[in-house]
Amino acid sequence: MKILVEGIPSAGREIDVGLGDPWAVEAAAVALDGPPSALRGQIGVRRATTKGVVLVDVSVTASARATCDRCGEPCLRTTTADSHLLYAPEEKGTEAYDGGEVELEAEDLDLGWYTDGEIILDDVLREALTLALPSRTTCADTQECDKRTDALLDAARGSSDPFAALRGWKPRTGEG
Ligand SMILES: [Zn+2]
Repeated sequence: MKILVEGIPSAGREIDVGLGDPWAVEAAAVALDGPPSALRGQIGVRRATTKGVVLVDVSVTASARATCDRCGEPCLRTTTADSHLLYAPEEKGTEAYDGGEVELEAEDLDLGWYTDGEIILDDVLREALTLALPSRTTCADTQECDKRTDALLDAARGSSDPFAALRGWKPRTGEG
């Protein structure tokens, strides 16, 4: 999906992203290391300056099947990109991006480059989703994941686990 910078209306443009968009599915599949089972969000583009600097807002969530890093059961890996990036035309190099006009906005924003007057949203989305990946993939159901992880640890320790007797212990309440 290419966005022609010249063609971006002055109010900006919103691009909906979903499982029906093959380019977005492909980008998410690379980021998540597998085909996404869920993909939803928007990418907003608007010109930040008259010199071709474009502000790109990515707000997209994607999920794919993965394996839990703790218990090893199948689970979902979800990444939520919420990024704001500036893109400047590469051809004009430092002349186009001389600080000045976009300095204030650029302070907090990463700057990327585009060529041939086009921003390739595939790359934008893939990078945003990859950067937002959680460092660990674990089950959404933490309690069940804990149980399975405990069982795995018990099995690894064998019967010599000194805490085995305590595992079922619960504090008594409402008595006395
Ligand atoms: Zn788990």
